[in-house]
Amino acid sequence: MPELPEVEITLRGLQASLQNQTIQRFVIRRSNLRWPIPSQELQQLVGLTITQMTRRGKYLCLATTQANMIIHLGMSGRLRILNQYVPADKHDHVDILFKNNMILRFTDPRRFGALLYTTADPQQHVLLRNLGVEPFSCKFSIAYLRQQLANKQLPIKSAIMDQQIVVGVGNIYATEALFKAGIHPLRPANSLLLNELKRLVNAIKFILRSAIAKGGSSLKDFLNSEGKPGYFTQQLNVYGRAGLSCWQCQSQLQQSRIGQRTTVFCQQCQK
Ligand SMILES: [Zn+2]
Repeated sequence: MPELPEVEITLRGLQASLQNQTIQRFVIRRSNLRWPIPSQELQQLVGLTITQMTRRGKYLCLATTQANMIIHLGMSGRLRILNQYVPADKHDHVDILFKNNMILRFTDPRRFGALLYTTADPQQHVLLRNLGVEPFSCKFSIAYLRQQLANKQLPIKSAIMDQQIVVGVGNIYATEALFKAGIHPLRPANSLLLNELKRLVNAIKFILRSAIAKGGSSLKDFLNSEGKPGYFTQQLNVYGRAGLSCWQCQSQLQQSRIGQRTTVFCQQCQK
């Protein structure tokens, strides 16, 4: 699944290619994604120029002077920039053609993604307005997290994956951040001490930044027409390593389920 780092890398690729480009045409081959693609409304964007591209959580916002598109990659979505037309495959649902012949192609095998249209501020869109703080912003601080968790007894892992608290911490990053911070994923959220909150905030920022840095080096593959895997591989310390030995203490990594998600942790290193 594309996580925040993949979405951020996608954004950087779009910013490098589409700034000030004028939309010429939409080709919508299949419109029943998570929500129907508003084919008629999107026509309003023809002839307009992309002025700004931003990310909020895992949503990408492409703005023109008059209206905006909001894109979510869902479970399996991917955006690519084509410099020339390439025949579409089965899962290439949308092409946005630009006047300079560039094509933005939206591919989504599982069709949980979305392409939406709004003339209002995308930040105030019903899907975006209740999102929690951005993990890289100064708003995601120790004080903020302490205040958010004060009355919450749910496992800390579930709390940091709550998109209304902080966006972009999916299962992989929550698992890895808790290991880095040395915090057991089942600890009640409101039991964390100040120094633990500090370690956790720093670990989340570090893990996400590292993934973006890693992805930056594969940006070309990520967005080009031939690039295959789409999502970059990362060096993971605990995620996907249940039963193997912890590289810090050599004890066997444990696995449990928290809120329907598999969690891997080290009983020795995470307290
Ligand atoms: Zn360990």
